[in-house]
Amino acid sequence: MDHSAWDVQGLFADEDVLHEHYTPTEIPEREDEKQELVKGLRRAFRGTAPKNMFLLGKTGQGKTATVRHTLQEFSVVANERNEDIATLYHSCSKQNSSYQVASAIVENHTGSDPRGHSQQVVFERMYDVFEEMGETVVVVLDEIDNIGDRDDLLYDIPRARNVGDVEGTKLGIIGITNDSSFLQDLDPRAKSSLYDRTIQFDAYDAHDLEQILRRRVKKAFEDGVVDDKAIPLCAALAARDMGNARQAIDYLYEAGEVALEEGSEQVLDTHVRTAEERVERRNVIDSISGLTTQDHLALAAVVSLAVCGDVPARTREVYVEYTDIAHDVDVNAITMKRVRDHLLELDLIGILDGSKRAGGSRGGKRYYWDLRTDLGATLSVIQSISRLSAAQDRILAGAENRRIGEFT
Ligand code: ADP
Ligand code: MG
Repeated sequence: MDHSAWDVQGLFADEDVLHEHYTPTEIPEREDEKQELVKGLRRAFRGTAPKNMFLLGKTGQGKTATVRHTLQEFSVVANERNEDIATLYHSCSKQNSSYQVASAIVENHTGSDPRGHSQQVVFERMYDVFEEMGETVVVVLDEIDNIGDRDDLLYDIPRARNVGDVEGTKLGIIGITNDSSFLQDLDPRAKSSLYDRTIQFDAYDAHDLEQILRRRVKKAFEDGVVDDKAIPLCAALAARDMGNARQAIDYLYEAGEVALEEGSEQVLDTHVRTAEERVERRNVIDSISGLTTQDHLALAAVVSLAVCGDVPARTREVYVEYTDIAHDVDVNAITMKRVRDHLLELDLIGILDGSKRAGGSRGGKRYYWDLRTDLGATLSVIQSISRLSAAQDRILAGAENRRIGEFT
């Protein structure tokens, strides 16, 4: 039997460094942000509590990486100096309230699930966990926006020492959020007690992304395997779209996979192009899976306008398109107000961008809708939804004389 299909070709030297969980050893693009963190943390070496800080910035801007990297260094130095300092990193991505977050922390550290007890009891157990960890404990709560307005924890932890919830232990808290509105909506009491400092992570530009990729390529791929044009292309594509480093690395990784599939000895810019399409398509599929038919129709209406270049579009314009598409696929149309709710929902999960702007003769503010995901990828996903098959011609119609070639 021929087993050659199982052979692996050596493009990758160490694929693990392209995975999400990898923490980079150097983060020069975030040196300023790191120094801010260091300033807040090193107070612990003076015997006082670390600053409570908040990290803010869009997804893929190195917030998690910078914090993890800085905490590692902090722990190493604390160890060298025989300081009784501990750090606890917790991602809140799977919890939607303070109660759930505290429960998860307790469960992770004690092995027993406190859910079912009152919030007060659960918080007390969490403080027991902190007290056992050390004299100074830095608690990082990543993706904290998931708890929405159930944010008692952010108010409670900074006060824990003053109100006697912890006795010996000095606590510092670092909150990380991708959603700037979360900070604005936060309880003002929590805000004033929690944030000694807010560290903003601005979007990377193409140059930053290129440097990040170059360092990663050195570790991930065999020497000389990645063509010199491929790296700037990954960087430029990701920079165009909010400067997301995760996206840039995903393109690079996928480009390696494409090169392998094609039996190429090098990763070329053509592989990057294919990779971008695949990654974007996967992102769209991930974000629209689990949506309702009405969500799909609302999205299809915006896509149909986008295909013609008619975005940003007002709710009324989207609604006209929506009713036509609903008619084509034989679904009862809902009211414009409810369609707007679906559009807002799509905005919330990052597929659409709904911005309120002044418009119209009476000067009131109106929503304008645009696609936030890649148009080509979104169109191709919309075309694969069988429920919408009867509307495909309409969705594509406007493109007929325009840019259709780009999308199909
Ligand atoms: P955020 O937490 O802001 O969403 P991450 O810290 O998860 O972003 O970064 C996304 C990806 O990009 C991760 O794989 C991370 O290792 C990498 N990354 C981000 N910034 C840098 C940087 N300055 N140097 C090296 N890698 C980086
Ligand atoms: Mg993060």
